[in-house]
Amino acid sequence: MITGKNYIGNSLSNLGSKTFSTYNPILSIENEWTFFEASDSEVNTAIALAKEAYETYRNISRDKKADFLNQIANEIEALGDELIKVYCKETGLPEGRAKGERGRTMGQLRSFAMLVKEGSWVQAIIDTPLPNRIPIPKPDLRKMMSPLGPVAVFGASNFPLAYSTAGGDTASALASGCPVIVKSHPMHAGTGELVASAIINAAEKIGMPNGVFSNLNSSGIEVGEKLVQHPNIKAVGFTGSIKGGRALFNMAALREEPIPVFAEMGSVNPVIFLPKALELKTKEWAKMYAGSITLGAGQFCTNPGLLFGIKSKELTTFIEELAQEILKVESFCMLNPAIKNNYSANKSYIQEQNGVSIVAKEDERKDNFANQVVATVSGNEFITNKSLHREVFGPFSMVVQCENIAELEKAIASLEGQLTGTIISEENEIQNYSGAVDALQEKVGRLIFNSVPTGVEVCPAMQHGGPYPASTDSRFGAVGTNAINRWVRPISYQSWPNDLLPLELMDENPLQIHRIVNGISSKNNIER
Ligand code: NAP
Repeated sequence: MITGKNYIGNSLSNLGSKTFSTYNPILSIENEWTFFEASDSEVNTAIALAKEAYETYRNISRDKKADFLNQIANEIEALGDELIKVYCKETGLPEGRAKGERGRTMGQLRSFAMLVKEGSWVQAIIDTPLPNRIPIPKPDLRKMMSPLGPVAVFGASNFPLAYSTAGGDTASALASGCPVIVKSHPMHAGTGELVASAIINAAEKIGMPNGVFSNLNSSGIEVGEKLVQHPNIKAVGFTGSIKGGRALFNMAALREEPIPVFAEMGSVNPVIFLPKALELKTKEWAKMYAGSITLGAGQFCTNPGLLFGIKSKELTTFIEELAQEILKVESFCMLNPAIKNNYSANKSYIQEQNGVSIVAKEDERKDNFANQVVATVSGNEFITNKSLHREVFGPFSMVVQCENIAELEKAIASLEGQLTGTIISEENEIQNYSGAVDALQEKVGRLIFNSVPTGVEVCPAMQHGGPYPASTDSRFGAVGTNAINRWVRPISYQSWPNDLLPLELMDENPLQIHRIVNGISSKNNIER
């Protein structure tokens, strides 16, 4: 049941007087629930509880942490249809998408449970001593990853389950041993509260310390700001706009003790269409890209917003085909009127720029429905006007028509950092474009060959992050089990007595994890 209250640790609380509602974008009406924004004292209590919980939680056994994560997945499943209905009412997204995202969220939680249970993720490295080394003896040194402390998580509007309350950031932080305080997204606060109730149920059933998780409502930026500025918050996970991520990153850097902000932000996901591929499969690529641009009303961070090609008969035909195909796709409801208004404003801004022409534009059908647009611009105009490089969050894509290979390379080199970059190529055609491929590789976290950027597989080899502004730290990513590395720091033990070492570093290797011992990967005991 949705109460509209905050979870301050295990307790429901509504001490604040500011309230807000969520919105049903399909029906264009407010939803029936009233949410209470977290007050200053509730924010402070949640942080105090998280700090206290950290002392216990960081030392809880790996089996118990894994049980907790698995139980969260079970409790989310047990929410059943209510969760799906609330999700759809707060986003306008279809039931199939809601169920798919729920499955992904539970899968993420379970994969972190497996990672924690296996244990080798702590990256144990042991260098045994050389007491007789000349000129000075070498001491015994043992290193492993250790949690940072309470983490604040900001979810995005477009992933109410997989990148929100119990999404990848929360799952990875809890797996690492860090308590989590979620700043709930105001557009899906009801979905957030239901998922928070599942986490709290799991915490109580498995016997986790009170404060290991809190969920704070807010309809503005104040609650988030307080979290990021509080000295007992030790790291931040953010998924959302470049504007929001950068603001929080700057705020964290200005603290007396700066903390890391892992912000996964916007991207235009450039795609390079090589001439032969266009010549041989014009229709196929046009159809596939019309589908990718409009998927989920274009509300994906991996949406292909910029398509590059070299001026030719084939590129012209491709643009015509894409224009036809995209207008065949039924338009979709956007998540919220605010997102729709931003889409309209950003689209208009780009359309007004010099040299931009519109080749396909669907008429506005209903309130909150996104009309898809394909625009074109010359390579030269694109290179000189940086405002054409920005993300238009919605079903919008622009074809950049370059004069030749040199201009294509220059256009790619002029881009900011991106989540993905794609090459569409026929057979060995790509070999003649190594300059453009090299330029693209410098800009992205994931290179794709002959496919679309939308659709992010959740597995350890996935990199979902990229050079700024795609992420604030391109060395890490938000998807897959490696995301755990964002919430930990290495700690070395020098000449530490064996029986006082963490289990992961003891001579006997009681957890039987993989360790690097004197440079060699091993599960063996260490003889003293
Ligand atoms: P958003 O407007 O940035 O909001 C995200 C969250 O951050 C909200 O809870 C928001 O709170 C908060 N926030 C924003 N600015 C803030 C500030 N200055 N101070 C404190 N809190 C702040 O983003 P969104 O509209 O939800 O999501 C759409 C964007 O996310 C798109 O640009 C998309 O590309 C990106 N995205 C990226 C990824 C990725 O993995 N890279 C995945 C999904 C989406 P309020 O709403 O209360 O202000």
